[in-house]
Amino acid sequence: MNTKFIFITGGVLSSLGKGLAAAAIGALLEARGLKITFQKLDPYINVDPGTMNPFQHGEVFVTDDGAETDLDLGHYERYTHAELRQRHNYTSGRIYHSVITKERRGDYLGGTVQVIPHVTDEIKQAVLQLDGEADVAIIEIGGTVGDIEGLPFLEAIRQLRGDLGREHTLYIHVTYVPFIRAAGELKTKPTQHSVKELRSIGIQPDILLCRSEIGLSKEIKEKIALFCDVDTDRVITARDVKCIYDVPVRFHEEGLDERVVECLNIWTRAPVLTEWEDLMARVKEPQYKVRIAMVGKYVNLRESYKSLNEALFHGGVANSCQVEIDFINSEDARGDQLRERLSRVDGILVPGGFGSRGIPGKLDAISYARENKVPFLGICLGMQLCVIEFARKKAGLALADSTEFAASTPDPVIYLMKEWYDYRSGTMQVRDEGSQKGGTMRLGAYPCRLEADTFARKAYGVDEIFERHRHRYEFNNEYRGILEKAGMKIAGLSPDGELVEIVELPDHPWFLGCQFHPEFKSRPLNPHPLFVSFVRAALAKRHGARSDHDGAEQVVS
Ligand code: GLN
Repeated sequence: MNTKFIFITGGVLSSLGKGLAAAAIGALLEARGLKITFQKLDPYINVDPGTMNPFQHGEVFVTDDGAETDLDLGHYERYTHAELRQRHNYTSGRIYHSVITKERRGDYLGGTVQVIPHVTDEIKQAVLQLDGEADVAIIEIGGTVGDIEGLPFLEAIRQLRGDLGREHTLYIHVTYVPFIRAAGELKTKPTQHSVKELRSIGIQPDILLCRSEIGLSKEIKEKIALFCDVDTDRVITARDVKCIYDVPVRFHEEGLDERVVECLNIWTRAPVLTEWEDLMARVKEPQYKVRIAMVGKYVNLRESYKSLNEALFHGGVANSCQVEIDFINSEDARGDQLRERLSRVDGILVPGGFGSRGIPGKLDAISYARENKVPFLGICLGMQLCVIEFARKKAGLALADSTEFAASTPDPVIYLMKEWYDYRSGTMQVRDEGSQKGGTMRLGAYPCRLEADTFARKAYGVDEIFERHRHRYEFNNEYRGILEKAGMKIAGLSPDGELVEIVELPDHPWFLGCQFHPEFKSRPLNPHPLFVSFVRAALAKRHGARSDHDGAEQVVS
């Protein structure tokens, strides 16, 4: 047994930032020289979040190995160097699926299959497969204590303390301490109830992370400590912050990492947090400001484009620039109203998506960007749509479309490629319209070779890249000739030259569409080159447009 396990549960209500807290603890332990890994255990019954509507559940985060995972894995990867895979995200559905498959196979030898021990053992196995992978594994349990469907997970982690011993397990409970304005004070009762609930399941938390609008005084901490049976110095304030990347440093100031290594009996150096401190210094004093329009379907729920929002933020910080995002719902805004809004931005982004809703609005936005030389980034569906727009307007193919929205289009510039070589499995893949939903996508990291003299090659500075995909449809090679002749540049291809991964318009200040999702690999401490480049182009546009104002608009912060 090498790895030590930290279990993070949440109470009182959801959205307390449990995932961010887990990620920030990872960042702090990494800053102390430890190797970290993570796992998210989600109590819902879906086998994975791949088929879940982003409106309900937020973004589906894709890992290098092509797992469709919970968006918290995005936080974990952004805050640390952990490389996450399918084994780092389990749902109840996946656990039960495995138990039921075993039962059907006869593995239980005729025994009665029960939640305890069969389901809980399956959960423990999922957790314990991380043993040896890192010094510390941070396991976050989705949902809140008291949820019926979360019980098997809590029972499993309760048992793990007995199995692994005290110095190998740590329970952190994230709770809420509301500030009641009328009374002018913080209230500890919800936290007391939440811990009582957790203790009734048999878990005594070692550390309490108390989310609060204001700092917790010593008296409040003592009160919580008394009622919850936790040492006073292990009651930690998780105060609201303006920028999520401030959390690691704030937690450190509260002594959280010190308490964690003390509880787990790990000897480490003091954390080196200069990178995070420098980052925050830059975040707090941006010199410039740009406005980017994000034209999509899920704009009403910011969580649906989580990684994208973060990547734009990272690209901004790299340019000493604050990025303001104007979310435009492509189902509502069309025509003059859309053009009016787009006339006020410095860059336009069309993100990924599925299905035909909102497509005309996105195409209008792409036309606007192309014709008015506004820096443009199209991602996945956004890239496919800029191929369609260009085919219609510049290559004389007025009815060009994707077979995803127009099955019988005469010019399927985007279509389901019947056969393609899959680098990851080293086999030919077959896709057709009848293939089952969910199982036929190109998922995960694929290599892409960049052409010389392209926006992409300049941004990345290397010839070959690996980027993450999540889509079914592809660029149709039959149209490559005609589109290239009309002025579209194929800037990135799979190594066999068959899959078009990046298209560009060279006679434009910055216009790029990529079939992959670069946002999944952007980090605050290592911003993604495409976002850095895109924001820089937007900034340059703003400079140009306001040259009478002596350069870019300075931000007064
Ligand atoms: N719907 C498109 C496809 O399946 C694009 C998917 C996406 O944007 N992630 O190919």
